[in-house]
Amino acid sequence: ASGYTLLRDPRHNKGLAFTEYERDAHYLRGLLPPALMTQELQEKKLMHNLRQYEVPLQRYMAMMDLQERNERLFYKLLIDNVEELLPVVYTPTVGEACQKYGSIFRRPQGLYISLKEKGKILEVLKNWPERNIQVIVVTDGERILGLGDLGCQGMGIPVGKLSLYTALGGLRPSACLPVTIDVGTNNEKLLNDEFYIGLRQRRATGQEYAELLEEFMTAVKKNYGEKVLVQFEDFANHNAFDLLEKYSPTHLVFNDDIQGTASVVLAGLLAALKLVGGALADHKFLFLGAGEAGTGIAELIALELSKQTKAPLEETRKKIWLVDSKGLIVSSRKESLQHFKKPWSHDHEPVKGLLDAVKAIKPTVLIGSSGVGKTFTKEVVEAMASINEKPLILALSNPTSQSECTAEEAYTWSKGRAIFASGSPFDPVEYNSEVFVPGQANNAYIFPGFGLGLIMSGAIRVHDDMLLAASDALAAQVKQENFDKGLIYPPFSNIRNISANIAAKVAAKAYELGLASRLPRPKGPRQACRELHVQPSLPKLSLNLERNFAFCNQRF
Ligand code: NAP
Ligand code: MN
Repeated sequence: ASGYTLLRDPRHNKGLAFTEYERDAHYLRGLLPPALMTQELQEKKLMHNLRQYEVPLQRYMAMMDLQERNERLFYKLLIDNVEELLPVVYTPTVGEACQKYGSIFRRPQGLYISLKEKGKILEVLKNWPERNIQVIVVTDGERILGLGDLGCQGMGIPVGKLSLYTALGGLRPSACLPVTIDVGTNNEKLLNDEFYIGLRQRRATGQEYAELLEEFMTAVKKNYGEKVLVQFEDFANHNAFDLLEKYSPTHLVFNDDIQGTASVVLAGLLAALKLVGGALADHKFLFLGAGEAGTGIAELIALELSKQTKAPLEETRKKIWLVDSKGLIVSSRKESLQHFKKPWSHDHEPVKGLLDAVKAIKPTVLIGSSGVGKTFTKEVVEAMASINEKPLILALSNPTSQSECTAEEAYTWSKGRAIFASGSPFDPVEYNSEVFVPGQANNAYIFPGFGLGLIMSGAIRVHDDMLLAASDALAAQVKQENFDKGLIYPPFSNIRNISANIAAKVAAKAYELGLASRLPRPKGPRQACRELHVQPSLPKLSLNLERNFAFCNQRF
C-alpha cells in the first residue's frame, strides 16, 4: 500500500507520530512535515484545541474528525479524558449532533438500512468492510434520547454508543457495527428539510416494519453467527418491547433503554442504601414516566426484591408506582393500558398530577423517566423532602434540556438533603457553603461491561440474572470516599476497571446459567480476552497495562 493511502486510513494513520523508520518503510517520506510528535504530545495539542471551542457541537465535530483521521488517537483521548469527553461524544452533545446531523454529516460512520434495501439486507451487510463483528448497536431513530423522532439522523446514537464499547469496554473498534434502520420519519421538520439525509416518507408500520426488522435480524445471524450481540437503542416503546420479546428466544439481544437503564438504576439504589439506610424492601418507589426506562427499571427492582425477600413478583411490584401522561397508573383507569404498564396498575383512587401522586404514595425514591424536562418542580422536591430525611431523586431523562430537574434545583429545594443523580451530567453545586457532587445515572456504566461479559463467555442469550449480576458488580465499585461526597455511583474516571469488573461478573453468571458457549471455560478473563482479540486495554496506545488488566486477576 502507498504511504498516501496509509495516511488516509484512520485505522492505521498515526500522523506525525510515525517514526523515521516507519516513514521509510511505508513510503511516507515527503508526505509529512519533518517533525516527529509522540502520541502524548498529539494528545496534548488536541485537548488544547478542543478546549478552545466554546460551542459543544464544535467539540463533537472535532472529535468526529479525529475519529475519521486517526482512530487510535481518538480512543486515547477518550480513555484518558473520559470525564471531560463523555459529554462531548455522548449525552448531551450527541443529542444536538443528531438534530443537526443533516448539515454536519460528512462521511458515513455506520450502515444505513432503509426500506430501499428490502430484500437485499444480507448483501448490504457484506458491503461493510469488516467481517468479524462482535456487537451491533441498532436504532430506527424514533425516540432519540428525549428528543423524539429524528429519523435517519439517529445514527449519531449507535456511533456514540459503540465508541464507548471501545473506550469504556475495550472492544476492538473494528468489531463494532453501528446500524440505522430507516423506515421513514414522522418528524415534519425533517420531512420538509431539503438537507435531510433519510427516506422522505412517513414511518412504515405494521407488517412492512416487522418484515424489514425480520430480514435484518435473520441476515445478522446468518452473516455474523449466533454470538453477535445486537443492542437495540432508542426505538419507540410501541416497537421496543415487542422486538425484545420476539428476538430474545432466538438471538443475543439486549435493549439498552429497558434493560441497561434498569441495571444501572438498580445499582444506584443498592449503593444508596449505604447512605439512606434500611433494606431495599423498606423503600417505596414512584416513577414519572412509564415507558421503556420506567417500566424496565421497575421490573428489575421488583425482581431483586423478590429474590431478596422470597416474595412473589406480584407482591413486590406493589411497592412500585408509576405516573404516565395521564396520571398515576391505577386499576380503575378506564382507558386500556399498553401491555407493559399492566403489571403496575395497582388499586388506588385516581390521582392526576405528580405532586398529588407524591403526596398520596409517599415514596422514598422518586425516579424521572418521562423525557420531559422541568417536571420535578419546587413543590415536588419539597414534598419529597418533607416525607423523607434523605429523599432519593433520580432525574434520568436526556439530554440535559429534558432533565426532570437540575442538580442545583434538587439540592436547593431539598435544603441540601437530596441524594441526586441524573442521566446527563451536571457540575457540582455549592449550597450553604457546602459542595454537592451529583452522580450520573447513565446506562454507559453498564452496557460496555455487560456486552463485554456476554462476548467473553460466548453467551448466546441474555438473562435477567445477568442484569442483576451487573447491578451488584457496579454497586460494589462505589467506595467510601464516593459515599462521603453523597455519590451513589463511582466516578467515570475509573470506568475501564468498572466495566471489566462488570464483564467478569456477567460472564461468570453466563457460565452458571449454562448460557455460555465458550467451552472449556477460559481460565480467567485475561485468557478469554486474548483468544478473542478483545482488549480491555489497547496496548498499542501505551496505556498502563497493569491498571487496565487489573480485573484479569479476578476469578471468573
Ligand atoms: P418512553 O418509552 O417514550 O416513555 C416515556 C414515558 O413518559 C411514557 O410513559 C409517557 O407517558 C411518559 N410521559 C411523557 N410525558 C409525560 C408527562 N408530561 N408527564 C408524565 N409522564 C409523561 O421513553 P423512555 O425510553 O422510557 O425514555 C424516557 C427518557 O428517559 C428519555 O429522555 C431518555 O433519554 C431517558 N433515558 C435515560 C437513560 C439513562 O441512562 N439515564 C436510559 C434510557 C432512557 P404515556 O405512556 O402516557 O405516553
Ligand atoms: Mn438510549
